[in-house]
Amino acid sequence: MAFKTIAKIPTPDEMKAMIPLDPKLAAIKQSRDEAVKDILLGRDERFILIIGPCSAHNKDAVSAYVSKLAKVQEQVKDKILIIPRVYTNKPRTTGEGYKGMMHQPDPTERPNMVEGIKAIREMQIQVLKESHLSSADEMLYPTNLGYVEDLLSYIAVGARSVENQKHRLAISGVEVASGMKNPTSGDIGVMLNSIKAAQLGHVFIYDGVEVETTGNPAAHGILRGAVNQYGRNIPNYHYEDLVYTVEQYHKRGLDNPALIVDCNHANSMKKHFEQPRIAKEILHSMKYNPEIGKMVKGLMIESYLVDGRQDEDGTVFGQSITDACIGWDTSEKLIYEIADQL
Ligand code: PEP
Ligand code: MN
Repeated sequence: MAFKTIAKIPTPDEMKAMIPLDPKLAAIKQSRDEAVKDILLGRDERFILIIGPCSAHNKDAVSAYVSKLAKVQEQVKDKILIIPRVYTNKPRTTGEGYKGMMHQPDPTERPNMVEGIKAIREMQIQVLKESHLSSADEMLYPTNLGYVEDLLSYIAVGARSVENQKHRLAISGVEVASGMKNPTSGDIGVMLNSIKAAQLGHVFIYDGVEVETTGNPAAHGILRGAVNQYGRNIPNYHYEDLVYTVEQYHKRGLDNPALIVDCNHANSMKKHFEQPRIAKEILHSMKYNPEIGKMVKGLMIESYLVDGRQDEDGTVFGQSITDACIGWDTSEKLIYEIADQL
């Protein structure tokens, strides 16, 4: 094979020993894991907000952002559980561009995977230490999960990965809440198949060993909109879409039916500033139709300190270098508005 070996990667255990998690923080994370699952499994009435930048490319900006979130979390804690998006692995449609902090601890420099894994562990731990909010990340590479699984309270499987058996089987062995996105085609059946697969136990090869899993009862769906054959974005958060998804979910008889609705990506048709309107429309549909109200457990929002986006070499502190995000003032206002409407 024409692979040039660059570096030997430490194992997850070696990395955890190098950059350990304080047991006190581990306990905070674990109690949040249970709280998130309680909401998804219908044991807690609160609403989940998975909110933060599209990609976390700068530790200090992410940390400043999450500290602000933590203050708002305190104000809305009776109604909302906030999970910061601290996304360190980015799927790229054409393979070009920034692939996340794990690949590039510095987005303007060459990839460095060993330093990248260290950087993401350090960032996740810093966020947890400063805010006591354990975060969400995307599981882009199933066998890399060991490097961060002790730090995350929510794991998403992205639209480009959700049809992949390796992702589905890995999630069947994950102990935290896991959201399976609808694929970019928008096929709700594919999303439901992936939830089914993740909820079942499996025997398979993972990272060089044969493993057995018991299934993830808190695997659920995330609606993110679709892209049609002409490249046009087709939202799937409108009332009729939610009615259809709820019906299909019930038809399958899956355990713990639950949905998170992603307000950005194809749902906003990449117009990030539409997210507050979209969030409010979803809350309205939830009130209007109790079946929707019961199944939609939360929202995903792309938000950062500064509105919009910049290129990878941009130097604006707290502005996204991948998808455009709403800025802090809009985000804070939106969280309070959501809390008022719940
Ligand atoms: C994301 O959450 O930033 C993302 C890449 O999502 P999706 O898989 O829906 O494109
Ligand atoms: Mn994004």
